[in-house]
Amino acid sequence: MEPWLFVPGNYNGRIGVIWETCTACKMCVNICPNDCLHMTTELRVDVLDNAEGEYDGYGAELEVGGYAAKFREEVTEELESFDLITAHSAPPSEWKFAQVLDLSGDTATVRWNDSGQEEILAQSELRTADNQIVSGRIDIGRCMFCGLCMEACGFTSFFMTNEYDGMSGFTRQDLWFDANRTRVLPSVHQEAVDGELAKRATKERDKRAKAAAKAAKAAEEGA
Ligand code: SF4
Ligand code: SF4
Repeated sequence: MEPWLFVPGNYNGRIGVIWETCTACKMCVNICPNDCLHMTTELRVDVLDNAEGEYDGYGAELEVGGYAAKFREEVTEELESFDLITAHSAPPSEWKFAQVLDLSGDTATVRWNDSGQEEILAQSELRTADNQIVSGRIDIGRCMFCGLCMEACGFTSFFMTNEYDGMSGFTRQDLWFDANRTRVLPSVHQEAVDGELAKRATKERDKRAKAAAKAAKAAEEGA
């Protein structure tokens, strides 16, 4: 079927954010003339904690009292066909979150946030999560689609998509988009995400190398 409306390529449509690469610099927030953008934090798996292959192993360690996440296999199919850009609702959550109660050997005792139930499972099934990861809410009802926020973002995390759908509702609250409604899947912007991964992994690699050198020097001096 032919599209019924032609949208020019430079049309400023629905806002999309790659939260995985956002540094919380707030340039977008400060430049917005309509006070649409509000930064907050959320419980999430950090992009480095979620890395595989070249950057695997540079994420944070599981800690007692911290948070962990387990991938929800049951939503894989739904997520593959979910169109984040035009959806009128949030996508299903990829992760199930829990608080880490105990770590022993290769296992972890966790309490799931949704059910409050405790479970012992292999640490290899879990990713580290953090409840202080940058996130934001956009009041799209106040937005005039000027694009200043996108231009202000020096990290190519913030952009206006070409989409006009999914921006209507029956109440003003329906137009408050939490991070899960503006999130663009990292796989859609893999290049930007890979750049951020490389930056964070390099920083972590240098930190570990410095710590190892310091420990070796201390051992040498003590010998
Ligand atoms: S496009 Fe919307 S959110 Fe961005 S600066 Fe303009 S009014 Fe604010
Ligand atoms: S979206 Fe861009 S400009 Fe806004 S806080 Fe994140 S990195 Fe900064």
